[in-house]
Amino acid sequence: MKKTILVCGAGGFIGSHLVKRLKSEGHWVRGVDLKYPRYEPTSADDFAVGDLRDQSFVRDIVDRRFDEVYQLAADMGGAGFVFTGENDAEIMQNSAMINLNVLEALRRRNCGRVFYSSSACMYPQENQVDPDNPNCAEDSAYPAHPDSEYGWEKLFSERLYLAYARNHGMVVRIARFHNIFGELGSWSDGREKAPAAMCRKVAMVEDGGTIDIWGDGSQTRSFLHVSECLEGVIRLTRSDFVGPVNIGSDEMVTINELVDRVAAIAGKTVHKRHIPGPTGVRGRNSDNRLIREKLGWAPSTRLDDGLRSTYRWILQQVEAKMVDR
Ligand code: NAD
Repeated sequence: MKKTILVCGAGGFIGSHLVKRLKSEGHWVRGVDLKYPRYEPTSADDFAVGDLRDQSFVRDIVDRRFDEVYQLAADMGGAGFVFTGENDAEIMQNSAMINLNVLEALRRRNCGRVFYSSSACMYPQENQVDPDNPNCAEDSAYPAHPDSEYGWEKLFSERLYLAYARNHGMVVRIARFHNIFGELGSWSDGREKAPAAMCRKVAMVEDGGTIDIWGDGSQTRSFLHVSECLEGVIRLTRSDFVGPVNIGSDEMVTINELVDRVAAIAGKTVHKRHIPGPTGVRGRNSDNRLIREKLGWAPSTRLDDGLRSTYRWILQQVEAKMVDR
């Protein structure tokens, strides 16, 4: 059945991919964002440029009952944006206001299923000190102690969505994303995350050269390609399971290993220089037991497959930039 769908944050990385995916299923999609997607035109039927912190704008764009709503808009960035402390007030204010406004407008229109994207950044920092054994099971979230204000806002908003479900009978679905990466994502604007940053550094260095890595590189993470993230988001939204549930890869690697894998894909020998910089928690990995149990599905593609297509895309961007100069 053709659905009417709203995607908030449709100009962003995951949102623009999601719009494309929903359009490929034949639905009518309205996208909303402060900006159009950066790297290719939007696939949305209708795209509203505006600020979701503005209540009257939000009421204007929620002008009907949408069958599905995906709320991905947030003030967001990589470690260089989230962990320095310099953007804390902005991050909390902006994202909380977006969620407060959007939820209230959806309630008034009695909208259908509402997906909210939380983040693994909401897990307690104590559970992520051992790089070999991080604990990111969904039920380990409390007592809460995220390591960033970004994580605290996500936790607050998870509770906000759950409260609207409880008190207003709304159908909400919540996922905690773990490091999503892929083509058409930030790669050089200061908001890029580790996979894109490593792909750019490796693409730009000559064979046998040296690249800078923040910290000692032994912190661990897992990275999920955006195509599998979308699969999880859509399966969860259309399921009976509310969440919160992790959507991430459980193929954990160190940052040093990530660099080595990108270098191997590029066919280059690359040396690492470890420099001081924001690194976040020591270890984080997606725990996929709950998603497997509740949805009968979990991400399964290998990190190298996603890295290959992402490296290819970033290399093209780097080369195009060099031609520009
Ligand atoms: P993104 O920054 O590319 O997309 C977010 C979009 O929200 C941007 O296009 C931005 O312009 C828009 N936005 C911000 N403030 C707005 C406002 N006031 N009004 C309208 N639009 C506004 O980020 P992304 O990687 O696509 O992430 C999407 C969601 O997933 C975010 O909520 C993010 O916190 C969450 N998430 C992402 C990851 C990841 O690894 N990418 C990990 C955990 C959680």
